[in-house]
Amino acid sequence: MKITCLGTGTSTGVPEIGCVCEVCTSDDPRDKRLRTSVVVETEGKRLLLDCGPDFRQQMINNRIYHLDAVLISHEHYDHVGGLDDLRPFSYEKGLDVYAEDDVVDAIRTRMPYVFREHKFQGIPNLELHAIDNKPFTAAGISVTPIRLMHGCLPIFGFRIANMAYLTDLKNIPEEELAKLNDLDVLILDALRKNEHPTHESLPEALSLIERVCPKEAYLLHMSHRIGLHAQVEKELPPHVHLTYDGLTINC
Ligand SMILES: [Zn+2]
Ligand SMILES: [Zn+2]
Ligand SMILES: [Zn+2]
Repeated sequence: MKITCLGTGTSTGVPEIGCVCEVCTSDDPRDKRLRTSVVVETEGKRLLLDCGPDFRQQMINNRIYHLDAVLISHEHYDHVGGLDDLRPFSYEKGLDVYAEDDVVDAIRTRMPYVFREHKFQGIPNLELHAIDNKPFTAAGISVTPIRLMHGCLPIFGFRIANMAYLTDLKNIPEEELAKLNDLDVLILDALRKNEHPTHESLPEALSLIERVCPKEAYLLHMSHRIGLHAQVEKELPPHVHLTYDGLTINC
């Protein structure tokens, strides 16, 4: 399996518009973070996890010309804002998009022109599939949803074979923890160093990693308040890393 981190920043991206802090003005390319999205390649298929407003740039930067399915964690703009740009990936046949039923409703409301009976020429050809908290297959690949709490909003993380992608979580219900056993790679939210009401802080992410014991853990969805990539990376345990845009992980 090959995992590519297309975007590793929080909803504002890094740099933040108008901010002149040392992270936002850093010359290190690893301190420039597009909105969070990951692509997983396994068994000859390519699955996109979240499709935010930087999706178009991410496809160009990473020279990705084909997708087999899309999984959406939740309805926030930084995870769905790029859905219209799926057009070139759905010209030949409809592209399957998997999300929880209320997220499916939110996507329909956000993009009514895509789902009208009489379609405007050139719109994305998306096949929405409502999922619940049970394993499903996307492009023939088995996916296990994981219930996460994003503050008081229930959302989904996803496990594919021995990797799991948990973005935008503050808490994980105890009964879901068993789904994170025996992971090779855990990718999870770590917004910043200090606490936040709807996202894990760095210390909270590290304590979840300690409980779940993946072989390797990678942090994403960072804001500028995480600090400089080069500096924070040195402070982490050896099997924990900050992601950066364009990072590939093989497992
Ligand atoms: Zn987010
Ligand atoms: Zn800043
Ligand atoms: Zn969110």
